[in-house]
Amino acid sequence: LIVLDKVNKWFGPLHVLDNVNLTVAKGEVVVVIGPSGSGKSTLCRAINRLEPINDGTITFDGRVLPAEGRPLARLRSEVGMVFQSFNLFAHKTILQNVMLGPLKVRKEKPAAVRERAMSLLDRVGIGNQADKYPAQLSGGQQQRVAIARALAMQPKALLFDEPTSALDPEMVGEVLDVMTSLAKEGMTMVVVTHEMGFARHAANRVVFMADGQLVEQAPPEEFFANPRSERAKDFLSKIL
Ligand code: ATP
Ligand code: MG
Repeated sequence: LIVLDKVNKWFGPLHVLDNVNLTVAKGEVVVVIGPSGSGKSTLCRAINRLEPINDGTITFDGRVLPAEGRPLARLRSEVGMVFQSFNLFAHKTILQNVMLGPLKVRKEKPAAVRERAMSLLDRVGIGNQADKYPAQLSGGQQQRVAIARALAMQPKALLFDEPTSALDPEMVGEVLDVMTSLAKEGMTMVVVTHEMGFARHAANRVVFMADGQLVEQAPPEEFFANPRSERAKDFLSKIL
């Protein structure tokens, strides 16, 4: 579904994506880990072209993506993104937040959008909070709204950039549970996270990045039991 071929990106002299090749199949869950500054967020942002790349190609669903223009709008409605900070609209209710994309971007009919939004809120366990405002919800609940909002666009893939890093520890589980159920249902997902439990249990593949390079990738059981590179061994020894 997603193919990165020799993707390079520089921020000035800094080589943040260094010849990255990555393929994500439909229905696959890929967890991206690596030290701070290794380029994980840039990789996510490059995939839905929030960040322009300097070299290489990114193909989504069989289409090579240009740097700009109409195909990008379509791409962004097909690839949802969930960030560390939930980025909900403070002055709109939970339900309005979830309905906004389908209404404004996709010009869908309000009745159908409302029905879908309500069923998504139920699915992430907060149907009863639909008329509240974001500030009235806990961080874990807000992040679940952000996931429902991404799903409301009926994306073909979802990107998560440290979705639980800003949460109090007791709220991490409820967000990971939603992500795990999405993974089980076959959603294609690229997940940057420090939650190694999620990587072990929900990922099909773990990708380890360092200094902009995709250093190694393997199924989680293999990666955690037997990291090949020194850098991955070093990283794991610090976090596990
Ligand atoms: P973290 O785990 O801390 O989130 P990361 O792996 O997500 O790190 P990136 O945010 O992708 O790392 O950043 C990769 C490198 O690019 C870092 O050295 C960062 O300082 C640099 N960088 C990121 N965004 C910019 C920017 N807009 N301009 C210049 N440098 C940037
Ligand atoms: Mg990051």
